[in-house]
Amino acid sequence: MLREDLIFVGTCDIAGHVRGKGFPAVELPSRLRKGIGWTHSNMMQSAFGPIFDTPFGTAGDLMIVPDPAAEVRVDFEDGSPAEHFFLGDIRNTNGSHWECCPRDFLRRGNAALEQASGLRLIATLEHEFVYTGNLDRPGDSYSLSAFRRQGGFGETFVAALRAAGVTPDSFLPEYGPRQFEVTVAPQASLHAADQAVITREMARATAHRLGHRAIFSPMLVADGVGNGMHIHMSLRDAAGVPATHDPSGPFGLTRAALQFAAGVLHHLPAICAVTAPSPISYLRLTPNRWAPTVVDLVQQDRGAAMRVCPVFAAGDADEVQRQFNLEFRVADGAASPYMALGAVLFAGADGIRRCLALPPVDAKATALPRSLGAALKEMEHSEAVQAWFGPVFLDAYLRHKRAELDYTNEFSVSELCHRYAEIY
Ligand code: GLU
Ligand code: MG
Repeated sequence: MLREDLIFVGTCDIAGHVRGKGFPAVELPSRLRKGIGWTHSNMMQSAFGPIFDTPFGTAGDLMIVPDPAAEVRVDFEDGSPAEHFFLGDIRNTNGSHWECCPRDFLRRGNAALEQASGLRLIATLEHEFVYTGNLDRPGDSYSLSAFRRQGGFGETFVAALRAAGVTPDSFLPEYGPRQFEVTVAPQASLHAADQAVITREMARATAHRLGHRAIFSPMLVADGVGNGMHIHMSLRDAAGVPATHDPSGPFGLTRAALQFAAGVLHHLPAICAVTAPSPISYLRLTPNRWAPTVVDLVQQDRGAAMRVCPVFAAGDADEVQRQFNLEFRVADGAASPYMALGAVLFAGADGIRRCLALPPVDAKATALPRSLGAALKEMEHSEAVQAWFGPVFLDAYLRHKRAELDYTNEFSVSELCHRYAEIY
């Protein structure tokens, strides 16, 4: 049948969905300059689709401009159209960055870190998800049987990642029913967030071609096992030298890394509304789920909000330096990786700027907010968050999320899980 190549350009928005528009591939040179048309209220599309509330009305024009460094072209060689898309920035029509652009929010977080410390963040976002092509079987957690019965999904997914320029690190059956996990190689933070978006989309694209789904919703059943999005981070100086590990420092961390972690913990109740941004995110953040419940940094503990990760069979001190990383565990797949990593960066940078210290070891750890509503209140009242977002973006974000809460308010817990599994 007659066919012409199409390219999609989009961004991962407040709802954590990749949204944008397509154009004929032959138009790429001009689209790289003028992008595709977008409007302010597009950002207010809820996770469920409809715009429930918007400060922008129907007015205004913007453009999503493809970033040549964030192009994906993956041909699955099954006769289906190639996955050809760009991630991009939402700009004003004069080319300047729009104040509510999620990707630019992350860029601004990077700049805050660099300004506070001269350091940069290297990161990788690790995803858990449910692959519907597997039937659940008792005893399947981490099993070879579950690994085998996902059939060709894993191999095609890993090949698609590599073809998309993402270096796969591991693919495994996880603890929950039909749950899998994928990890990829770390990159500079903007690239790491692009790769997180691409990783989710390649999982979905692969599952779609096999007649199934990859579901990244934080919880599929009320009492189940959560899908986390764990953010592994390390600091590098301007010359690229690792700056996270000091064998003589508390937790083995350098002064800068300690202050960065202290900043993240300090702001955690407020940034939770960005990293764990759905009502059901808070079903995951409950006891006995290997997910965090309090504001803490712990050495090698998977129940912590921030975990100091182990170093595996390091041959020498340099390799220890390179491997050493911190893991932020209060995030899930309902979040835009740009927003989640951006918020963590701003918080960490503030910790360095203000020379914050970790909470005393013997102090009782503060509980994480128990609901999205509670987290949004913390966010709204945080002067730091107000400054990072600016008034327009903060108002838009709060309205977006509060409208989602209003919409889902009457749902039972099982209805909530069902509805979120449909959209993520
Ligand atoms: N599934 C857990 C979560 O929701 C994490 C399990 C693990 O440590 O990999 O974060
Ligand atoms: Mg895991």
